Amino acid sequence: MKRVLITGAAGFLGSHLCDRFINVGCYVIGMDNFITGDRKNINHLFDNSNFQFIEHDVTEFVKIEGDLDYILHFASPASPIDYLKIPIQTLKVGSLGTHNLLGLAKAKKARILIASTSEVYGDPLVHPQSEDYYGNVNTIGPRGVYDEAKRFQESITMAYHRFHGLETRIVRIFNTYGPRMRLNDGRVIPAFMGQALRGEDLTVFGDGSQTRSFCYVDDQIEGIYRLLLSDYQYPVNIGNPHEISIRDFADEIIKLTETSQKVVYEDLPIDDPMQRQPDITLAKKLLNWEPKVDRAEGMRKTFNYFKGLTREELYKSEHKDFSSYINK
Ligand code: NAD
Ligand code: UDP
Repeated sequence: MKRVLITGAAGFLGSHLCDRFINVGCYVIGMDNFITGDRKNINHLFDNSNFQFIEHDVTEFVKIEGDLDYILHFASPASPIDYLKIPIQTLKVGSLGTHNLLGLAKAKKARILIASTSEVYGDPLVHPQSEDYYGNVNTIGPRGVYDEAKRFQESITMAYHRFHGLETRIVRIFNTYGPRMRLNDGRVIPAFMGQALRGEDLTVFGDGSQTRSFCYVDDQIEGIYRLLLSDYQYPVNIGNPHEISIRDFADEIIKLTETSQKVVYEDLPIDDPMQRQPDITLAKKLLNWEPKVDRAEGMRKTFNYFKGLTREELYKSEHKDFSSYINK
């Protein structure tokens, strides 16, 4: 039985990864400090004898008893609003946290996959973005804390691969959505759906001409799983190339949710990328992977999840209180 450590286990992607590895017969150790995650995402796993949970901040030394075959490092704030509010923690989890997990992988002779992001391309000057594009990142802008932490994460991972011969994998994840996203994490899909469900207008930032390409979580998890089992150590884009402007996307959500609300415009955040679409040629060739769930189906499933939230969850304060994590 393979033993797998998943960091960020109580988050959106981490919790789906825990399910996936348990479903294929692995023993899963989930680790999280709950800074942006929610125990609710993994509640269903606590009674499973193949699951163990360790509450821990991965920027501190990570100690695991026994062997490990795989480590998937997914701990990191992922929503722009989250990482703008906890910039130092974001930098630390991408740098110190990654260093700790690489050290653990080396000690255990485990294969490690790290969660990188399309944000390493910054506000891209090349479209669509393929893995050989080096990116256009503002190092000192507010988003730089996330982008540069992830770029450092890729560099230190390749250094461990080259210097220590560690088995490493790097996935560059493009905007992924689905059940278990935090309703109030500020990302566009939960934001629009929460607004529709509360009967509020949908807030489009800027003029809405910026684009994104949204990947359903099941497709993303399949791509990550295949990459882990592949023998390719360089970064691979995983995402859905079907691109849409945020303005058109708001209209799609208005139709889907049947809300009578309208779109209102707010300021575009600094350094918000104007276009984003993954070139997935490499993933197709290498992993024989491509997304299967189209946006209409994925959005229906996601909306059904958000509709199932309690009234209390729906109206819970718009922003998570991070105060207990600051200066820890
Ligand atoms: P999320 O916020 O739902 O999950 C992140 C999890 O990491 C949370 O449970 C949080 O509590 C935990 N965490 C953060 N810092 C920690 C620390 N120091 N120690 C232990 N746990 C910590 O976000 P997500 O969307 O699930 O993203 C997961 C990973 O995937 C992140 O690394 C993110 O950068 C990457 N990613 C996600 C997307 C996406 O569209 N969802 C896109 C690109 C990259
Ligand atoms: N956005 C928006 N309204 C919102 C939240 C986000 O118009 O209420 C926009 C945001 O400016 C960006 C896009 O939607 O252009 C995607 O934002 P998200 O935070 O989901 O992720 P990003 O791709 O920017 O990391």
